[in-house]
Amino acid sequence: MFLAQEIIRKKRDGLALSEQEIQFFVKGITDQSVSEGQIAAFGMAVFFNDMNMDERIALTTAMRDSGTVLNWQSLDLNGPVIDKHSTGGVGDVISLMLGPMAAACGGYVPMISGRGLGHTGGTLDKFDAIPGYQTEPSSELFRKVVKEVGVAIIGQTGDLVPADKRFYSIRDNTATVESIPLITASILSKKLAAGLDALVMDVKVGSGAFMPTYDASEQLARSITAVANGAGTKTTALLTDMNQVLASCAGNGIEVKEAIDFLTGAYRNPRLYEVTMGLCAEMLVLGGLATNESDARNKLNQVLDNGRAAEIFGKMVAGLGGPTDFVENYGLYLPEAKIVRPVFAEQTGFAHSMDTRQLGLAVVTLGGGRRKPGDPLDYSVGLSKVCALGDQITPDTPLAYIHAQTEAGFEEAARAVKSAIVIDDIKSEKTPEIYRYIREQDL
Ligand code: URA
Repeated sequence: MFLAQEIIRKKRDGLALSEQEIQFFVKGITDQSVSEGQIAAFGMAVFFNDMNMDERIALTTAMRDSGTVLNWQSLDLNGPVIDKHSTGGVGDVISLMLGPMAAACGGYVPMISGRGLGHTGGTLDKFDAIPGYQTEPSSELFRKVVKEVGVAIIGQTGDLVPADKRFYSIRDNTATVESIPLITASILSKKLAAGLDALVMDVKVGSGAFMPTYDASEQLARSITAVANGAGTKTTALLTDMNQVLASCAGNGIEVKEAIDFLTGAYRNPRLYEVTMGLCAEMLVLGGLATNESDARNKLNQVLDNGRAAEIFGKMVAGLGGPTDFVENYGLYLPEAKIVRPVFAEQTGFAHSMDTRQLGLAVVTLGGGRRKPGDPLDYSVGLSKVCALGDQITPDTPLAYIHAQTEAGFEEAARAVKSAIVIDDIKSEKTPEIYRYIREQDL
């Protein structure tokens, strides 16, 4: 029998906790026998004194097991259960293409996604832009769509990782979010509860990333790779660039359009293509669906070119309650903002750097994100045709098009875009789309 206050004291004094102590504490978070004050103190003790790898694995698995852990065995699937998760970005629409692409290559992707957080967009909010699409289906419907279509992208159900729900909301208002062991356990407990064979993590780096520096992103990527593999799920992390908006646009409905254009081949932003292919190819290799990266890329290009990935996207949307002709006729279903107008630079030069976080916040301010939990969203607003770093800019080159509902909203977003994109005489060096892979053998 343990006492919560003694566990907190031990961590406060910089000692390592045993697996049993961590399990006891997490059980207390879940069944409310540990108080909010004790959880906050525990979070702060971990924040200052860190956790070793054994503690991180124990925390992650105890949180994973605090609720339902999905099991796909009874469905008799003839391929691996694989997934991807991102630490969050701006214009990060990858999941919408990657899920159907992986399914078209023989994987099963039960993707449990989140809503926008801070300046970042959320995959679930993008799907909510599609009329009829159920982001919270019954578990029967979720399993049916995964089995029949190969991919279903939905929200977290009530009984998945209840310990994280309570712990995260306390961390959120006690300044203990930015702790690598706590972030690792929070993200991975939810992903591992989905019963995956393999996982690819997209850890963002740069001005729109959640972690403040490249080193912090790399530390998080290493922690996630080590803990997930230690907990028995084959996992690779990729460090990818978030020094500019990833797609050509940012905003829920607008990003859905870009995802469909990507899948059908109508338009593929090269940056978005590189990161999507890098992540998805690694998923296929980890899942045993391709022998190496170049085999995986060939398979992925094939399902893009032959329309199979686009077809699977359409089937997933229809299977989860959306229109059956969404891919063909998305323009009929997605809302349009009242004002769609370009914002121009006031000088000549090159797009030198971008405060991507500020651009994400501009979308929030337009109504595409929440100011407080539960706020309704406007799916029509955001930015499109955002210029890329290195682009030549003149006073009549649009920096972006703003999709707004009011003139005041347009003006505010225009100011944010102009101050977020720095124009300089010197063309900055091109940043890579993918900085590096962190695989189990690299640890
Ligand atoms: N996202 C999560 O789900 N948890 C964290 O702790 C941070 C980001």
